[in-house]
Amino acid sequence: LVKAEGKGGYRFFSDELNRSSAERVRLEARLHRAVTNEEFTLYYQPKLDLKTGKIMGVEALLRWPQDDGSTVSPESFIPLTEDTGLINPIGQWIIVQAMQDACRINQQTGLQLQVAINLSVRQFLNPGVVGLVAEALQYTGIDPALVEFEITESMLIDKVEDARQSMHNLRNLGVQLAIDDFGTGFSSMSYLKEFPVNTMKIDRSFIMSLDHGAEGLAIVTALVSLGKAMGLGVVAEGVENKTQMDLLSESGCDFGQGFYIDRPMPIDKLIASIGQ
Ligand code: C2E
Ligand code: MG
Ligand code: MG
Ligand code: MG
Repeated sequence: LVKAEGKGGYRFFSDELNRSSAERVRLEARLHRAVTNEEFTLYYQPKLDLKTGKIMGVEALLRWPQDDGSTVSPESFIPLTEDTGLINPIGQWIIVQAMQDACRINQQTGLQLQVAINLSVRQFLNPGVVGLVAEALQYTGIDPALVEFEITESMLIDKVEDARQSMHNLRNLGVQLAIDDFGTGFSSMSYLKEFPVNTMKIDRSFIMSLDHGAEGLAIVTALVSLGKAMGLGVVAEGVENKTQMDLLSESGCDFGQGFYIDRPMPIDKLIASIGQ
């Protein structure tokens, strides 16, 4: 009986595994349908120039609205789309849609906002990505200088040479590159120097640490100095309160993004809020 109990414990564990793989299969089927039915949408979160207090750009963030009015976080399904290859059609839709939306935002507001588009690792390392981006640029007619691709630091570590090649190819199209979630991927400083990037986005965890005293501020100040010493634009991610915002301005950080400034929102809401 004790053994059975032990087995029961084990079975519980494997039930969990089975359940999660069954869920995966269901989610995968729903994702396939979502691609076919074009269920995805993009939200836009402004990036603020901390010196002028003006919006300088927006980041496109994927949203998958559900029938019940909720949305599923991209973090919970992007990895599955990577495993299944679904990221290719979804990713291509994101690139074209974000460029089209940016053209519309700039037309309607009279501004020259930059649009930042997140690339997943599989998209970024796919040798075809350059052709797809080139096509999207041509199709939408957007000024490539107004387009920035965000890639995370960890994508640069595994396949350094492929990453470097991909970055150079993208930069040759005239678009900008940002390192997202900087400070979490444990890359070495020498990588940063060698890669043709324009922007460093300091991860939200460091911005949160600004609430907890001098050490947090020292680290953020060091990251800002590092970015600037390398000639990069520096963006703070996840700015949630006034204290953080003030400390970031003092540290010389160029740009801020976060709930304290603006939440990600649908394009119409963004355009309306800029018009005010
Ligand atoms: P990310 O690119 O680092 O995006 C920042 C995330 O932080 C977004 O979550 C945003 O809504 C959230 N955020 C912004 N300001 C604040 C703040 O002040 N506080 C807090 N707590 N959070 C804040 P989201 O939209 O859920 O996206 C999560 C991640 O999913 C993104 O991280 C990115 O890695 C990925 N992702 C989102 N959209 C896309 C996409 O279109 N393509 C790809 N490949 N990945 C995407
Ligand atoms: Mg991002
Ligand atoms: Mg980030
Ligand atoms: Mg992130």
